Amino acid sequence: MTNEIKTACGSDIVDEKKFIVYQNKIIYFCEEDCKIEFIDNPVKFLSSDHFLINLDLIPTIGQNDELLPIDN
Ligand SMILES: [Zn+2]
Repeated sequence: MTNEIKTACGSDIVDEKKFIVYQNKIIYFCEEDCKIEFIDNPVKFLSSDHFLINLDLIPTIGQNDELLPIDN
């Protein structure tokens, strides 16, 4: 299992508060503004130059994932 976490914006520094769950994947951002922008228009953000990570490389959340309160 790889546990390589990077932000969607290409930074190695991950702030655990700056993430969202999109298509069952946890996506981290370099800053709060990016997160807000993504939530506002995911498709646009995904196709922007600022989005550097390959969505396919982000593991989907499994049943054993401890990271997040996704449901409640
Ligand atoms: Zn960013």
